[in-house]
Amino acid sequence: MVDQHTLRLQRAKTRAQIICTRCVMDTTDPDITFDDAGVCNHCRRFDAQVKPILAAIDSGKAATILEQEVARIKEEGKGLKYDCVVGVSGGVDSSYVAYLAHRHGLRALCVHFDSGWNTEFAVRNIENILRSLDYDLWTHVVEWAEMRDLQVAFFRSGLPNCDTPTDHAIPGVLNRVARRFGIRTILSGSNASTESILPLSWAYHANDHRQLLDVHRRFGSVKLNTYPLIDFWQNYLIYPHYHKIRTFKILNYVSYNKREAKETIKSNLGWTDYGGKHEESIFTRFFQQYYLPARFGFDKRKPHLASLILSGQMTRDEALDELQLPPYNKQQVEFDLEFIAKKLAMSLDELKSLIEEPGVHHRSYRSLEPFFEIGVSVKRKLRHIGMSR
Ligand SMILES: [Zn+2]
Repeated sequence: MVDQHTLRLQRAKTRAQIICTRCVMDTTDPDITFDDAGVCNHCRRFDAQVKPILAAIDSGKAATILEQEVARIKEEGKGLKYDCVVGVSGGVDSSYVAYLAHRHGLRALCVHFDSGWNTEFAVRNIENILRSLDYDLWTHVVEWAEMRDLQVAFFRSGLPNCDTPTDHAIPGVLNRVARRFGIRTILSGSNASTESILPLSWAYHANDHRQLLDVHRRFGSVKLNTYPLIDFWQNYLIYPHYHKIRTFKILNYVSYNKREAKETIKSNLGWTDYGGKHEESIFTRFFQQYYLPARFGFDKRKPHLASLILSGQMTRDEALDELQLPPYNKQQVEFDLEFIAKKLAMSLDELKSLIEEPGVHHRSYRSLEPFFEIGVSVKRKLRHIGMSR
């Protein structure tokens, strides 16, 4: 029996598309809504929640807060070898965060989660960052058998967010390392300027440990020993409130333009651009460029371009032109399919047939979604009365 959420998700793939009149999001998002002017719910959420962040950057208010935060990080880090943790993937955002940390005189410990999918480009970029900034690196390597088992389980689950095993692990590793060294701040690369839009049904919360474990229980078989699981309570209560480890989204306090950031890290860190977004992981490339569009009709370029349009980094016409290009290169897909099937020890036929199968909505599995909704609204209220950032 297919539930109503999954039915809606499956129908979104084939129905005629209606596009937002302001950004480029469309009805491939099963939960999208439009107002009378044809403007979508993502644009309205952007105006309510993201615009104030960008306005604070423009007015200089964010720069003042950043100075205060840097002073606090230095004060809390006195007597320690490191005063903050920076997760590095070799991609633009995290590399730029490391650059900013250094520019502000912070003694960062760079942390990398090695999921087994790094490209040589990513490794080279990380090496160049460390050398240029004279930062140390902590790498967490997960047992490949565990990572493989989780990733195959997500493919078989039919859920769209197959990057969950990696996305879940990253905060798990960053918090563990911070706690181990007594560090109180994690500098995060997530930001309002370039990634403010992403439909929940395309990429449900990776930090929902209940969903991850439910998928693993149904489709996995290898015991998770080295996988850095982080449960809801550790994530929202124990690490931030008991151990007092804060995650600070530093890119929300500077004027962050991706093109300019790339130029800066190229000339200062010896960083090299190897093409599209997420070229640092073959898995992420395959998953975003081919798997999501082919199995679900989800083209991740749309929310990415919509974020750039809304933050004024691109025009809607430029984005629509870019979307005319195919999301993937056919030859590369053939290579990636074989590579991924082989690495995950699946047959090519199984991987191809899974892509043919209809997708499943995240509400078809156990989850903590109501808790996330409550948590977000409490946080927003606290922020409103000035008790949280
Ligand atoms: Zn819109």
